[in-house]
Amino acid sequence: MFADLHLHSNFSDGTYRPEEVVAAGRQHGLGALALTDHDTVEGCARFAAACAAAGVEYLAGAELSVEYGGQEYHLLGYGFDAGHPRLLTELAQFQAVRQERVLEMVARLNRLGIPLDAAAVFRVANCQSPGRPHVARALVEGGHCRTLDEAFERFLKIHRPAWVPTNKMAAATAVALLHEAGGLAVLAHPGLYRSDDALEALVAAGLDGLECFHSRHSPATTRHYLATAAAHGLLVTGGSDCHGMNKGKPLIGSVQLADEHYRRLRARLNETGAPASAGPI
Ligand code: AMP
Ligand code: FE
Ligand code: FE
Ligand code: ZN
Repeated sequence: MFADLHLHSNFSDGTYRPEEVVAAGRQHGLGALALTDHDTVEGCARFAAACAAAGVEYLAGAELSVEYGGQEYHLLGYGFDAGHPRLLTELAQFQAVRQERVLEMVARLNRLGIPLDAAAVFRVANCQSPGRPHVARALVEGGHCRTLDEAFERFLKIHRPAWVPTNKMAAATAVALLHEAGGLAVLAHPGLYRSDDALEALVAAGLDGLECFHSRHSPATTRHYLATAAAHGLLVTGGSDCHGMNKGKPLIGSVQLADEHYRRLRARLNETGAPASAGPI
């Protein structure tokens, strides 16, 4: 049995509905799935229901934008209570800032002479947690860019003219929030950051695991983080980071986390008395 614990739906910047993500997971023979939309858990209930109907194990998840030492990191939360009041309040704050950020990105594009309308971005996004991929899609659909890549290269990549940083919670605060909600905190795609400088601090803050397996990790990168996880006694997770068609092709199925790692994660959740495991949310 294999798991994919990093998946996006159209509740953030994926293009598949939660039910379509589960159907694709099933087609690839995956036995356990976690939805990890950016800064939201809104898709989790539907994802859980679809998993139950498909006979696939489900884990609540989210991918939080966090900050340490002036750098942005992504923190995956797993197995928390998706109805936890403070978690929901904090996520609502993230989403409010993401919506304001769309307005700011559009204003910058307008100042650059691109007549994009914020309403077009919100229409494309059609969710509470809009992000740069939605702005990119609106730019392509409006005929302002030919491809999503061009939109990122010209305008949206970090330090490009329409780039606006996201709301980021201090990494240690986010780890504590996930723990308070009964979940575990895992550093997403560690191989995609500039260095491992934040790792020690994150471990000191209570980080539970490392996403060693990821669609953009080379075999050498994976080996490096497996060794790092072992050295720090961290859980090992993995996922494809599938965004449906947003990254050109669906990545689901390209990363298959072995059952032993998934079972260890589940066992840790049971030890910490996290809610959940089998429940719908
Ligand atoms: P945001 O959270 O709004 O800053 O957007 C981050 C999302 O944009 C992530 O899902 C990234 O995978 C995606 N992204 C970042 N850089 C690029 C790029 N150069 N081309 C396409 N997608 C990107
Ligand atoms: Fe994304
Ligand atoms: Fe990420
Ligand atoms: Zn992701």
